[in-house]
Amino acid sequence: MIADWEKQIRDAFYITANGDFEDNHFQDVIWEMSLTAFDKPREVQVVVDGKMNLSISAGDPGFVWFKDEPVGLTMPIECWIHTHPFGKAYFSGTDWKTIRTWEPLMKMAIVLGDNQQMYWIKGQTQTIYYQYTDIPDWIDNQTILSDFTKTVPYPHYTPFRDVLEEE
Ligand SMILES: [Zn+2]
Repeated sequence: MIADWEKQIRDAFYITANGDFEDNHFQDVIWEMSLTAFDKPREVQVVVDGKMNLSISAGDPGFVWFKDEPVGLTMPIECWIHTHPFGKAYFSGTDWKTIRTWEPLMKMAIVLGDNQQMYWIKGQTQTIYYQYTDIPDWIDNQTILSDFTKTVPYPHYTPFRDVLEEE
């Protein structure tokens, strides 16, 4: 349980990410808080409004934000971010209903899953899906570059010389 989970999200946004809601670290913090800050994994939702103020809430998986009109937010909403703690990043039927409702006043929506994300961007006809996978551990089999460079230089290599400097 993490008492200051909301502050950690705000700090990641304003300090580390410098107000960039597409920042990887900021999104990682939201995801981590969603999994670890509560008695059980809970859906975390962050709304970035037109003045870059954050409205943060948490609920049960499937919890519906935007059921009531958000109070105190400056329109248009820059981005609506929420997590799917079960891991799959896609827009559910409920999510699409929210997006359709708020489309006139919302520029972007992002759903975060386990090493995956889906973006909806206003005006585009397709969503964007990202999945992150680890790079395999290659340390043991990697050719060391300094070994390789021993076979260089070229036999007939001529250094570049600026023609203007020729005598
Ligand atoms: Zn959702």
